[in-house]
Parts: sequence; structure tokens; C-alpha cells
Amino acid sequence: NNTSSSNFIRQIVAEDLKSGRTRQVITRFPPEPNGYLHIGHAKSICLNFELADDVGGRTNLRFDDTNPVKEDTEYVESIQDDVKWLGFEWEELHFASDYFEELYERAELLIRKGKAYVCDLSADQIRELRGTLTEPGTNSPYRDRSVEENLDLFRRMRAGEFRDGERVLRAKIDMSSPNINMRDPVLYRIAHAHHHRTGDAWCIYPMYDYAHPLSDAIEGVTHSICTLEFEDHRPLYDWTIAECEMESEPHQYEFGRLNLTNTVMSKRKLKQLVDEKVVDGWDDPRMPTISGLRRKGYTPESIRAFCRAIGVSKGYGLVDERMLEHFIREDLKLKALRTMGIIRPLKVVITNYPEGQVEMLEAENNAENEELGTRQIPFSREIYIEQDDFMENPPAKYFRLFPGNEVRLKHAYFIKCEEVIKDASGNVIELRCTYDPETKSGSGFTGRKVKGTLHWVEASQAVPAEFRLYEPLITSEAEETGKPFLECINPGSLEILDGYVERNMSGAQGQEKFQFFRHGYFNVDPKLSADDKLVFNRIVSLKSSFDP
Ligand code: ATP
Ligand code: MG
Ligand code: MG
Repeated sequence: NNTSSSNFIRQIVAEDLKSGRTRQVITRFPPEPNGYLHIGHAKSICLNFELADDVGGRTNLRFDDTNPVKEDTEYVESIQDDVKWLGFEWEELHFASDYFEELYERAELLIRKGKAYVCDLSADQIRELRGTLTEPGTNSPYRDRSVEENLDLFRRMRAGEFRDGERVLRAKIDMSSPNINMRDPVLYRIAHAHHHRTGDAWCIYPMYDYAHPLSDAIEGVTHSICTLEFEDHRPLYDWTIAECEMESEPHQYEFGRLNLTNTVMSKRKLKQLVDEKVVDGWDDPRMPTISGLRRKGYTPESIRAFCRAIGVSKGYGLVDERMLEHFIREDLKLKALRTMGIIRPLKVVITNYPEGQVEMLEAENNAENEELGTRQIPFSREIYIEQDDFMENPPAKYFRLFPGNEVRLKHAYFIKCEEVIKDASGNVIELRCTYDPETKSGSGFTGRKVKGTLHWVEASQAVPAEFRLYEPLITSEAEETGKPFLECINPGSLEILDGYVERNMSGAQGQEKFQFFRHGYFNVDPKLSADDKLVFNRIVSLKSSFDP
């Protein structure tokens, strides 16, 4: 369980509580509403919420909405849905944009203290003068402006007197600091852009490195957890809290972000896939978004278990995507009904079975979980089996159906292949078989043994269904060669097939999950399924080499 698993951040929290430095732990999950959440965010969500929850603390959801151009209320809503769906309840809901006025006041405080100045250099010039890892930076010619001039210019920036990029507010720290982030970083920029919440009230916007620590402090966050790229920003985080004279003193801790094999995991890139219509939206089941995983059929429990298992460390780990699949199998193994679906149907006529007769057979719903009970399934003279469960000229050790061979039909009888029917071009379109009534499942028949067991669906009552099978959206070439991901789209990432399922499934609802014998776990697609049309997304096949 989650309370027993430990990581270095939990140890820090435990020590802070013990020493009395922290009385109540407050964490936050701080997404920028510029896209949908992905599985990487799930790691951060689980970490923040579980960390606080385990020690009686609280977690806020805060939208880091300081970049008006890329942000949108659609994302604000989807992010809330996803966090709730994962099973977490935030204590307070905040928007960094609610703090714009206070952030502005603190910036004037910095100016009055001589700790910030208005700089007229362009972004390119600022970059050029910033220096490198080995070369110190050069002071801006505007660095020594008077407090009065800075205040006047900053107020006029706010009033909208200047164009985008004409001026910025910079912290006055140290242009020769070994840490480039401390070389007079930009705190505010001008952007005449409409903000999804503040509208046109502002035309200057705070930078992440300025807004984030102050937002944390305003909310009384104690442990501010972010990913490793921000490690070098920590001195600036602390500088901002101290120089802005914030009452509360949050601390930043960094952990390694989640990377999955063959998976693009940046909102910017995922948005490209959506915008260029490579996928049919953020919730396309091939997307590593929370909404895509949900639509594919992942459960919150499986995602949380995965996040717990990968742990939290200071390293840049690359996690095998099959590990995620392992956890959905584990979660559904005992929960899902095990039924029969035929993805590529081949008709079988059982010639010695009475015409017009339909009998009902009993089938257990989950061989490993008796509590799921049994169901009645029809059997008659015509059934469908899977095309690849038959071979006309099989190799050695092929135990399924071939001319003259006998197999077991799951929950039913032994059948024997007597005749193969082909169309004009030689494709097998139908099999003629005989069955042996003595071999009925559950009858205790021991007369002879067969090696193959096939799944099947009775034809007259079969329910047509669409099956959607998925492969990785991005080929391994992207990872192996560094080729741009948009050039590495797997053309076979989605295969759509028309088959049949048992009649009992005709009323299946969106998001219901099943295990289809031999094919794996499937989810009823909540968008594409309708009362008269069943669409199943394959979540995962039954086994992989990754499973123990
Ligand atoms: P992206 O690059 O995908 O847009 P981001 O870090 O810019 O990610 P934010 O909305 O700022 O996205 O992220 C919110 C929180 O989620 C941050 O604290 C961030 O550190 C965390 N996070 C984002 N991606 C990952 C990941 N792959 N693994 C773990 N945490 C992540
Ligand atoms: Mg970010
Ligand atoms: Mg980002």
C-alpha cells in the first residue's frame, strides 16, 4: 500500500514534521492549463496528494496560468476532471492569475529595494549578454536606473504604454553568478494578450520563476515539489521568497520526471498531434493523456498503482511502457467478466447439430473469481470462430482447428473439422464440422483428450461489434535515432475490425470493461459506442514478456 512505500521526499517530510519545522504539510499540484494532463502529470499528482494525505496534510490544485497566449478554459476543465477521476480531492482551488495584483505589488517592493529594474534590451540582447557556463554575463546598460525611473517605467508598462518585448522587469542579482538563472532573470514581460480569466486587465505577465514561489508562499505551501529541470532555479526561488518578504517560507524539492518508452510526453508535442489531426483529439486512446488512457480503458487504480511502483527518485528514468500495461492487467484480472468475442470471424456449420435448435450453456464469468457468477450462452448449428484458429496446412504442434482435427469449444463441445469451403479466389470462408454430444462441458467426459480450446460465438444471436486494436503511436525510431517524432508516426497504430460478441453484451455501456478470451482486456468506447453499435478498445493483450 502507498503509506508504506518510502522515497526521499517522504523522508524529508517526516523529518520536517519531527523537528517541528513544519506543523501541517501543504503541497500543491500546479499545472499550466495549456493542454491535457498526461501520465507524467499523474506521477506528480500521486506524489503531491499522497505525500500530504499520508501525514494529515492538504493539497491544493493551482493553475499556473501566467502565460495567456497558450492557456484555455477547456484545459482548466479537463485538468480538474482528470485529477478527480484519478481519485484525488484538492483542498483549495487556486489560479496564479488571482495573485496578479499581489505579485505586482511585490515587484514594486523589489524596485523600491533596488532589487529589480526595467530593462530595455531585446530578448536576443538579454540572451547575448547573459554569458555562458564559463563566461560571466555583462551588466545591462539599464541596470543602474534610479528607483524613481524604474517605478515610473514599470507603472507605464502596466498601463499599456509599451509594445510587447519593448521592456521587461528584471531582478538585480548578479551577472557573474555561476548559476545563469541568477544573472538578472526577467520577472515580468509585456504581452498584450487576452487572458482566459483576467481578460484584458493586464498587459504585463509575471514569469514562472517569479510567480511560482510567490504563489506557493501565498498559499502556505510547505513542500513545493517539481521536476529536476528546476533544480538550478531553486536559488532564485529562495531569493524571490526572501526579497519579496513573504511571510511563509515554502521549500522546493525536485524529482525525476517520468519518461515512458516510445511515448511522447510533452503537452506541446501532444498538442501538435491533436492540431495536425494525427489523432482524433486529446482523448484518443493512443494518447498518453489521462483522458486517452481512460478512454482506452485504464482505471484510476491501475494508474495509481503504476505511479507507486515506479517510485520517486532524483534520476532521469526511462520506464518501459509495458509496466503500465502490467498494472491494468493486474487490476482487471479479477474484476472483469471473461467473455467471448470474435475479432476476425470465420463461420462454422456443425452439420450434425439439429437445424433450428438453440440450447443454453452455462459459462463461468471469471474462472479466478467465483463471485462474478455464471451466465447462459446460446449454442446452435452455426457459430463463429477466429480466422487464425484454423489452418488448412498447419505446422507441427498446431493444436487448433485443421482438417481432421478435433478441438474443444470453450464452455461447449468438442468439434472436428470435416470440410473446408472456399470462395472463387481460394479464401477459406466457412468450415463444416461435426460435434460430439458426449463431450459437453461440465458433463465430466473423459473419453479422450484434445489439445486446443477455441472461443466462439453463436451466430444467430451474435452481436456485431467493432474492435479497435492499438499499437504505439510513435515508432521506436524516434527514440533510437532522434528523428522528429512527427516523422515517426506508426501507420499501424490503429486497426479497426468488425466482429461479434456474445448476445449478453448487447447492452454494454461506455467504459464497461471485459476480458475477451485470448484477446485481452477491452473497454467499451464511451464516445463511439451507441445503443445500436458496440465499439471496443483493446486496453491490453493478455500477457506480455514483461509480466512475471
Ligand atoms: P510538459 O512539458 O509536458 O508541458 P510541464 O512540466 O510543462 O509538462 P506543467 O503543467 O507545468 O507541465 O506540470 C504540472 C506539474 O506536473 C509540474 O509540477 C511538473 O513538474 C509535473 N510534471 C509534468 N510532466 C511530468 C513528468 N513527465 N513526470 C513527472 N512530473 C511531471
Ligand atoms: Mg510547467
Ligand atoms: Mg510545458
